[in-house]
Amino acid sequence: MEEKCWQRIVKYTELQGTSGQEEAVAQAFQSDLTPLVDEVWANPDAGVFGIKKGQPSGPKIMFAAHLDEVGFMVAAILPTGALQVVPLGGWNPMTVSAQRFTLFTKKGQQYPLVSAGLAPHLMRGRAQADVKAADILFDAGFESAAQAADFGVAVGDFIVPSTPTTRLANPNRVVSKAWDNRFGVVTILTALEALQGVRTPNTLLMGANVQEEVGLRGAKASLQALQPDLFFAIDSSAANDLDQQAGRQGQLDQGTLLRVFDPTVVTRPKLQALIQQTAEENDIPYQSFVSPGGTDAGASAQVGMGIPAVALGVASRSIHSHETVWSVPDFEAAVALVVALAKKIDQKTYDELVGRSC
Ligand SMILES: [Zn+2]
Repeated sequence: MEEKCWQRIVKYTELQGTSGQEEAVAQAFQSDLTPLVDEVWANPDAGVFGIKKGQPSGPKIMFAAHLDEVGFMVAAILPTGALQVVPLGGWNPMTVSAQRFTLFTKKGQQYPLVSAGLAPHLMRGRAQADVKAADILFDAGFESAAQAADFGVAVGDFIVPSTPTTRLANPNRVVSKAWDNRFGVVTILTALEALQGVRTPNTLLMGANVQEEVGLRGAKASLQALQPDLFFAIDSSAANDLDQQAGRQGQLDQGTLLRVFDPTVVTRPKLQALIQQTAEENDIPYQSFVSPGGTDAGASAQVGMGIPAVALGVASRSIHSHETVWSVPDFEAAVALVVALAKKIDQKTYDELVGRSC
C-alpha cells in the first residue's frame, strides 16, 4: 500500500465521530473530496457528496459510505460523578467494559474517560449478570456531579472510542477502531483518486451519509435530495472466521463482499450478475455474503419510487468495538470494484439492469 493511502487510513480511523456528532469527520472528508470532484453537496442532516460529471445522458450512480461510528451519549450524571449513557448504534456489552473513550462536551472540551469494568475481586460469589451496554457506567475521574458540571460536562455530550491504528506483524492485517465505516470513507476517496482524468459513462455521486448506525437516517435524506438511479452502499460487515470452521461467510483475505441478502435488501439477480461479471472481468476477488444486519442500501426502497441498491464492502473481525482486525487486500479489492463499476455502468447496462428495453 502506498504511504499516502496508509496515512489516510490512520487519519480517518483515528478521527472520532459518532452518530449525530460527525462534524470533524465530515469536515475532513469534504476538504479531501473537493479537489477530486466537479461539485460538492453537503447537508449536516444527510451527508457529504461529491458530484463527478461524466456522460450527461448516462445514469446517476451513487456510491455512499457513512461518516458515523458507534459510540455513546451521556444520559445522566450520578452524584458520584459517574456517567450513565445511552448507546449510539449496536454494542455487544462484552466489548464495552474497561476501554478508553473521549468525552466531547457541547462547549468544545475533550476529556479522556473509561468505561467501568467490574474487577474480578468484586465478582467473587456473584452470578454473572445479564449486563446491557447501557448498564455500564463511564468514569472520567470526576469526584461528584458538581465537579463534572464545573468541567462543562452535561447530558447530551458524546462519548467516542479512542484507539490508535496499528499495522500488525502480518503486513496484510491492521487493527483499528471505526473500520465500520471509515473503510467506506477511505474507499470513496481512493476510488475517486483512481478515477481522476477518467470520463465515466455516467454521473457519479460519491460520498458518505450521517447517522447510519442509528437507523439509516442520513441516507434517506441524501437519496431523496440527489435522486440517483442506482445505489451502492459501501460498508463493513462482520467477519466470522476466527475459529476456522469451514463454510462460514465473511472470511478475511477472500475479497470484497457482494451482499446478496440482508434483512433490508434482497439484491436483484441482474444486479448480482452485473457485479460478479465486473469483478471477474477485472480479476477482483469477491465473496457472496448473507448478512444478519442491514446497511444504508435498505433506505433505497423507501425513497421516491424505490431505487435499486446493493451493499458492497469488506468483512472485518470485531466490528462495533475498539479493536477491529481487517485485511488490506480486501480493502484494495473493494476499491478496485468501485472503480470498475464506475467505469462500466452506462445507460445500456442500466436499462438492462432495470429491465427496460432500448
Ligand atoms: Zn455498523
